Amino acid sequence: MSHPVRKRFGQHFLHDAHVIQRIAEAIDLKHNDHVIEIGPGLGALTLPLLERYPYQQYLALEIDRDAIKSLSNATQKHTDFFIQEADALRTDFAALLPEAENIRLIGNLPYNISTPLIFHLINFKHRIIDMHFMLQKEVVDRMVAMPGSKTYGRLSVMVQAHWNAEKLFEVGPGAFKPPPKVDSAIICLTPKSISHANEYHIKDPAIFADVVRQAFSQRRKTIRNSLKSFLSPENFDQLGLDPQLRAERLSVLDFISISNYLSSKNQ
Ligand code: SAH
Repeated sequence: MSHPVRKRFGQHFLHDAHVIQRIAEAIDLKHNDHVIEIGPGLGALTLPLLERYPYQQYLALEIDRDAIKSLSNATQKHTDFFIQEADALRTDFAALLPEAENIRLIGNLPYNISTPLIFHLINFKHRIIDMHFMLQKEVVDRMVAMPGSKTYGRLSVMVQAHWNAEKLFEVGPGAFKPPPKVDSAIICLTPKSISHANEYHIKDPAIFADVVRQAFSQRRKTIRNSLKSFLSPENFDQLGLDPQLRAERLSVLDFISISNYLSSKNQ
């Protein structure tokens, strides 16, 4: 069946069977996982995953009604599969599967919503075991970047404060119809709350977000300058932080200790 491609929904449908198989293998669903797929489209990932793991609780969120119709028809025999019309950016993921703790999120995401969606998902990180997303390669590179590298910035710190971020593999434009203008990559995110719960505890997420935004808004400046409105020279001493550093040299834990220090000071 032909489907009109909707640019406003960021539609690039996967059609390379080899790439689809690699993604399915990377996701490696386990019995009793609760899968939520964002933007299943016509089911390029959904159908092979349902064939391979027919026993999963599998919920798909899709914004395009025509795609929903077509995928509902194609999945009639899968009684554990549900598709809902939803805008993932406005979805309360905790309410979707209230009894499930083990949510595994997957999706070949529309690139225009990928960053706001990742930020939205921070609110539900305690319910999510992991996330496998196809994103624009350049965005994946920023998410996984380490301090000191050119691509390390606000997105790297915001993502890595909550999740371990791993780039799995790259996918060229030819794997999609229509092909996007950019390269893509698969990222796997797993919550820090499992691996490093205490170390990465952020007392006040709003202060943390402010500090990170401010530090990188002038990334060529030293943090003495860029964080002047937050930290005095004495504060830098107390934190044991060199004020001559630039934001791109600070680790995620440095940003957390700055923001936790400010939260305690404000109490
Ligand atoms: N996963 C499919 C489709 C990828 S294209 C494949 O790999 O072939 C991205 C999909 O996300 C489209 O189906 C698009 O309609 C859907 N989408 C776009 N914005 C969305 C949103 N805000 N919430 C949920 N789905 C969305």
